[in-house]
Amino acid sequence: MNVPIARTSLTEEEIQSVLAPLRSGWLVQGPKVREFEELWSAFTGAKHSIAVTSCTTALHLSLAALGFGPGDEAIVPAFTWIATANVVEHLGGKVVFCDIDLNTFNLDVTQLAEKITSRTRVILPVHLFGLAADMEPIMQIARKNGLAVVEDAACGFGSRYRGQHVGTFGDTGCFSFHPRKAITTGEGGMITTGDDALAAKLRRLRDHGAAMTDLQRHLGARPYLLADHPDAGYNQRMTDIQAALGGAQMARAAEIVAERQRLAGIYDKEFSALGWLKTPAHIDGLTHGYQSYPCLFQPEIVSPASVVRINEARNNWMDRLQKAGISTRPATHAVHMLTFYREKYGLRSEDFPNAWAANDCSISLPLFHGMSDAEQRYVIQNVIETAI
Ligand SMILES: *Cc1c(COP(=O)(O)O)cnc(C)c1O
Repeated sequence: MNVPIARTSLTEEEIQSVLAPLRSGWLVQGPKVREFEELWSAFTGAKHSIAVTSCTTALHLSLAALGFGPGDEAIVPAFTWIATANVVEHLGGKVVFCDIDLNTFNLDVTQLAEKITSRTRVILPVHLFGLAADMEPIMQIARKNGLAVVEDAACGFGSRYRGQHVGTFGDTGCFSFHPRKAITTGEGGMITTGDDALAAKLRRLRDHGAAMTDLQRHLGARPYLLADHPDAGYNQRMTDIQAALGGAQMARAAEIVAERQRLAGIYDKEFSALGWLKTPAHIDGLTHGYQSYPCLFQPEIVSPASVVRINEARNNWMDRLQKAGISTRPATHAVHMLTFYREKYGLRSEDFPNAWAANDCSISLPLFHGMSDAEQRYVIQNVIETAI
């Protein structure tokens, strides 16, 4: 049997949904984008939702709209997808890494305050793998120091912090619709914000800085006259083809989240007695969305002294699982260990020991909507039989 790490599952109706914009001739950021944004706001409780081309452009646009620029510093968790750090570089800023908590894989808030300098402008907490970062202390520290907060909620669909959907705490929240995420539009992203002026600026910046969208112009009295451009913006517009696909999936949003939670619950139960596999944390007040199912392989206590040994054992285990047809991945990467950041900032693995340990000892198991009982049983059996 072959079990992939993830598989997209679209209904026939969702697949058919892309035909309407193709037939209407309105392909780019039109009525379907507006509809998807409204559905997104309704589901997350955000005041404004602004569709863009990816989570990376959502993060980039958020920083640009907040006036982040050369010389400014942004605090980024050392264990995340590289895009969280890259957008800071794109705008000429400096990335200041903060280590993570190995229990949650999220920003260690006890180390946050000491990263702040006179140049710090923004904190970029990540709700990694669908578990919310500890937003209350993060927001407190940000307010006390006059810092902006841009939430990387790429994996945050269905993730809640004390009942409130992630992406609605900071100045903006940024979501991804890459096929590895719970809702997909191929490529795509969404920005959420509660700030009216910021929302207006984000809408202009994604669309060449235009004061009016094409849809507004076409619905207006003089559709043949062009808009003014108060900003030098970008082209980060989502297509109506993508938005039709995203909007169609929102009809079963609650079911998509519930199914991932059901599958994770079965893994939790089956693996609960295994001392050598630490399954995703359950934290009071947090609802996990399970974008993935990241575990820590711990055949011995994880520490700087054992990381290299465990890493080799983990990789060999991944080989055995792959031979059995089961795809796994390291949960994500420690960005400070990647060549660009290591060389530019002169960093060593041990500078952020928990991110290093997560990089070398984590393993994500297959979890996706549409995973059959037989597939999940096959994964469980092989995980238990092949690990040590
Ligand atoms: C997927 C992901 C991104 C990038 O999303 P794209 O839509 O592919 O640009 C950024 N941050 C995190 C944490 C992610 O998981």
